[in-house]
Amino acid sequence: MTAITLVRGDITEQPVDAVVNAANSTLLGGGGVDGAIHRKGGPEILAECRALRAGRLGGGLPTGSAVATSAGRLPARWVIHTVGPVWSTKEDRSALLESCYRESLQVARDVGARTVAFPAISTGVYRWPKADGARRAVTTVRAKVAAAGAFDEVRFVVFDQDTHDAYQAVL
Ligand code: ADP
Repeated sequence: MTAITLVRGDITEQPVDAVVNAANSTLLGGGGVDGAIHRKGGPEILAECRALRAGRLGGGLPTGSAVATSAGRLPARWVIHTVGPVWSTKEDRSALLESCYRESLQVARDVGARTVAFPAISTGVYRWPKADGARRAVTTVRAKVAAAGAFDEVRFVVFDQDTHDAYQAVL
């Protein structure tokens, strides 16, 4: 059984095997979670991201995909970078958001991570509605861990009270 847990806090302080980063497709850093991870994790993470861009991810990391690097000075072993979709009222991009959770867990499993922490992907700068983001995160993770059976814990780490309430309602 995988424990699915919720904590209000800073994702860069979670002692888990893998921390998921709400990155952008350049993999070269940004604000929000991404900025915090690179700031706290140090230059090693960015160096690995640059190496990925110079190699198999020359065109950047596509939205909905995920890739792992080491975690530098974070209290984790890996950072799994995933690119959420920007919220749109014209187009339904929810399959891409769900893909972020699924693909991140796939990568986590591939590297051997048993505990994984997720931020509320896309709900910051990318403006995804919090309640819908929470519902898709929980539903997708539940389905994936039931199928994969490879994790001890998947932890949702949220910053603000609204997001915490949204996750708690779904959980
Ligand atoms: P995106 O660009 O995918 O929207 P953001 O990083 O802007 O990603 O925001 C995603 C969510 O993460 C938001 O709910 C934001 O409040 C939250 N957040 C920002 N910094 C942290 C942090 N250090 N730990 C956990 N959550 C964070």
